[in-house]
Amino acid sequence: MIQTSLDIATIRKDFPILNRKVNGQPLVYLDNAATSQTPQQVIDVIVDYYQGYNANIHRGVHSLSQEATDAYEMARKKIQEHFNIATPKEVIFTSGTTHGINLVATGFSSFLKKGDEVMVSAMEHHSNIVPWQMLCERTGANLKVIPMNLDGELVMEEYHKLLSDRTKLVFCNHVSNALGTINPIEEIIEAAHNVDAAVLIDGAQAAAHIKPDLQALDVDFYVVSAHKMCGPTGVGILYGKEEWLKKLPPYQGGGEMIAEVTFEKTTYADLPHKFEAGTPNICGGIAFGAALDYMNGIGFEALTQYEDELVAYATQQLLSIEGLKIYGTAQRKTSVISFNIEGIHPYDIGTILDKLGIAVRTGHHCAQPIMDFYKIPGTVRASFSFYNTKEEVDKLVAGVKRAKGMLE
Ligand SMILES: *Cc1c(COP(=O)(O)O)cnc(C)c1O
Repeated sequence: MIQTSLDIATIRKDFPILNRKVNGQPLVYLDNAATSQTPQQVIDVIVDYYQGYNANIHRGVHSLSQEATDAYEMARKKIQEHFNIATPKEVIFTSGTTHGINLVATGFSSFLKKGDEVMVSAMEHHSNIVPWQMLCERTGANLKVIPMNLDGELVMEEYHKLLSDRTKLVFCNHVSNALGTINPIEEIIEAAHNVDAAVLIDGAQAAAHIKPDLQALDVDFYVVSAHKMCGPTGVGILYGKEEWLKKLPPYQGGGEMIAEVTFEKTTYADLPHKFEAGTPNICGGIAFGAALDYMNGIGFEALTQYEDELVAYATQQLLSIEGLKIYGTAQRKTSVISFNIEGIHPYDIGTILDKLGIAVRTGHHCAQPIMDFYKIPGTVRASFSFYNTKEEVDKLVAGVKRAKGMLE
């Protein structure tokens, strides 16, 4: 049975959207890997900002601007503490994971030469493949792929064999959004550092479920999006070690990122502002801080333990359906169940589930190479958060059974 000290019914009241109906049925939201829902506490922070102190930051001497600047910088500090980052200088606000990855990939153009190697894992999100292909095209570096096995785990022996003094950069997601695999990033980082390669970890899927200690991990770069962890869309962070961020050229030119500008020469602002050109998503940054407060206020560990129990229960229940196959059966996984039923297209299952008010994702989940690996067009993906319940899992299982009955 699912055990938790949390009062999930009370937690659910914080999420107004969970009260709504879809196609006449109570919403069962199981698409948390695409985006999570937003608690009222975070929505209130967004409303307060626009009602009370909307102003541009770091510029005005007036009070409103000062209030907005203080709140934004306070959010940066909360993020710094949550991820155990050494200094707020190493927290760069971005528009999200994709932005953070492109910032690093573009910056690395000046460090790579022909014959160098960039390594990515076989289970990457498209946003984590294309920027590296573009980087390789610009520099003449070669892209290498860390293979995976049928359980959806990286083949670490192959990774160690692929590493050499040509390897300059390794990229891997912490948790796969398509399979839920938790990758052994500690081992990946340590081995890459042994050949002096830098490591960027995509934490977009992990950060809602795992609280990484970025100093202990000794990772060079780590990226997340707020909208996958109870925050708003359009904001995230790039963590970078100070020494790397000093070396990396700015990504965009504009206001806020300069120290001095003349037509002859511009000098750049200090970290973190060097990478924060233009007016940022001020309200989004503040709300990201509030989202972390919300989860930490309940207790991050308790939330993730409950999620793990829920996923274990859902896995067991789904496997009782004949012909159902789960993709991604790694030893260490979290929050995501990708599955198909023999002979039925995932899209058809998703359509019937939607009629029942159950929101799942169908398709390739922005990870086409994984689908090619399994030789399938896509999967049905149910992904869980701490506000989901055992009853919702039961509805999913009943819905899948019903869909199977109608489609067979
Ligand atoms: C969602 C996701 C991304 C992309 O995040 P954006 O917020 O769309 O930039 C990248 N990688 C993984 C693993 C994801 O789950």
